[in-house]
Amino acid sequence: MGKSLTHKIIESHLVSGNMIPGEEIFIKVDQTLTHDINAVMTYLAFEAVGIDRVRTECSVSYLDHNLLYVDNKTPDDHIYLQSVAKRYGVHVSRPGNGICHSVHVARFGVPGKISMGGDSHTPHGGSIGMLCIGVGGMDVATAMTGVPMRLTMPKVIKVNLLGVLKPGCNSKDIILEMLRRVSIKGGLGNVYEYVGPGAEALEVSARATIANMGAETGATTSIFPADEQVRKFLISQGREQDYKELLPDSDAEYDGFIEINLSELEPLISCPHQPDNVKRISEVEKRPVQQVFIGSCTNASYSDIAKAALVLKGHQVNENVSCTCAVASKQIYKKLMQDGYIDMLLDAGVRMLEIACGPCCAIGQTPATKGIAVRTTNRNFIGRAGNPTAEIYLVSPESAAATAITGTFATAEEILGIEIGKLAEVKEPKEYKIDDGMLIKPLPEEEALEVTVVRGPNIKPLPVPDAPQNYLCAPISLKGQDNISTDDITPASAEFSSMRSNIPLMSQYCYHRYAPDFAASAKAMGESIIIGGENYGQGSSREHAAINPMYLGVKAVIAKSIARIHKGNLINHGIIPMIFANPADYDGLELEDELEIENLLEQIPTRTITIKNKTRHFQFDVKLEITDNEMEVVLNGGQLTYLKKQL
Ligand code: SF4
Repeated sequence: MGKSLTHKIIESHLVSGNMIPGEEIFIKVDQTLTHDINAVMTYLAFEAVGIDRVRTECSVSYLDHNLLYVDNKTPDDHIYLQSVAKRYGVHVSRPGNGICHSVHVARFGVPGKISMGGDSHTPHGGSIGMLCIGVGGMDVATAMTGVPMRLTMPKVIKVNLLGVLKPGCNSKDIILEMLRRVSIKGGLGNVYEYVGPGAEALEVSARATIANMGAETGATTSIFPADEQVRKFLISQGREQDYKELLPDSDAEYDGFIEINLSELEPLISCPHQPDNVKRISEVEKRPVQQVFIGSCTNASYSDIAKAALVLKGHQVNENVSCTCAVASKQIYKKLMQDGYIDMLLDAGVRMLEIACGPCCAIGQTPATKGIAVRTTNRNFIGRAGNPTAEIYLVSPESAAATAITGTFATAEEILGIEIGKLAEVKEPKEYKIDDGMLIKPLPEEEALEVTVVRGPNIKPLPVPDAPQNYLCAPISLKGQDNISTDDITPASAEFSSMRSNIPLMSQYCYHRYAPDFAASAKAMGESIIIGGENYGQGSSREHAAINPMYLGVKAVIAKSIARIHKGNLINHGIIPMIFANPADYDGLELEDELEIENLLEQIPTRTITIKNKTRHFQFDVKLEITDNEMEVVLNGGQLTYLKKQL
């Protein structure tokens, strides 16, 4: 029986384990990436391990998310990150070079390799036939040590794309259709492998939008074959030598099947406050839009921005709309300038922002109170744009541009009419001017050993948890509902992003929008337990959503289900992830109830733990849905202590 592309890549990197869905396997990791607002903890952990140089083929540190130097914190972080990269053999992409995923695919990605990134949209690299997985920062630190990475063997789902997108539709509409069908939890444990004539016709930038935002389904990753489109892309990057064809076998066996006819798609919109709340733009009530943002790793490629510019050409941004645009990389920006598209945007009244993530993670361009923001980004959780009263809608660049003109939800066809066909003529450049001047290469090993790592006042030590004790008796410090996101736990914004290197400070704001008293009460409790509903910790790979509660004394999270990356982060940082054996037990628990666990260390290996509610006098069971290796990490109190024992 033939093999999927995913199976071929995993097999070629398999160190141990059986490739049976749900089983724990260990794989060799070729590449890692980090970005500035999560990375300090990653490199502090790597330093604490005590080896002299990264042991991957290529590790890159991107300074791309927070380029607003409003006080000392972010420059302190960037100087630390640049110096620690020099010391340990890591490439640096300097501020202004571009957003990590876009630059990584263009300048470092190689078909058939495996990459782990400390960012949930790392699957972006699946657009060129790489297997790219978003993980927590501690996992990236582990990968950099060369230790094989644990992975739960995913199911591989074939997504057969038929037909051709209509002009005015974008690959954003394909991934929004996927989200509509499978939901924000539907991808859990899956790799989506996109094939078929519709996939073959998509250029790498369009594939990247799909692979990137596949993260919103909860999938392990998404991948496209390395085919002629990938060869063309690598030629445009002057890297044809990195191309090798990688396809699934024609008789490949898959664990599931989805089919989408692209010809039937219409422009779609993800409505507040979850990415899977997807509707057709034509069926959404027309309401006044206050802000439009065109950008992010999801939708700021050359063709994305060029198409938005063509829609805006000859029009003015509506006077009630603030419209901004951030291009994904310097390379793309220069090509767009050369081809006249930046002029079109400026002439229409679009404000060009820095080449960075910026507004996507609430670093600048916060919407007004109760403002409606229409964005080409990938997330629309409450507060994601920095204002919890705002409503965020997600669309394609073409639809965002049309919305900027009309001041309400609109499609490109409403603006261009019979000229809509010209959007289909926009293609990715055959050739880019290659300029890697903003990439800093690793130093030779002997020189690197002489480098002093610079630690400004914002760089505080990495907190390391204790191993669990045999007896735990702790109150409930928070009872959350379904779909608590990492943004709820540790908010995104310029203010909070720059605190991520300083856990004593940042932990004071843990859950501060969702449960303003949490930090103070958890600290006063000493040790405590968090209760969650379904899909606890959904959203980003932000390990601060585990580190901050751990720092405040949280010992366990008991939830109906826990999002994949967040569960890994909890384990890595010494919080035990527990799942209600009977979800109805959630209803019987209240804030401050005292929960008692006896013989915890003996119960952990059985993967079922009995908990006594001492306040309400009943018992309930929880399950540990963890692998053997994860259990070792739990018993050691976290990945850092465990990892040090392995090296
Ligand atoms: Fe940056 Fe937004 Fe992409 Fe994250 S999702 S890497 S914040 S652009």
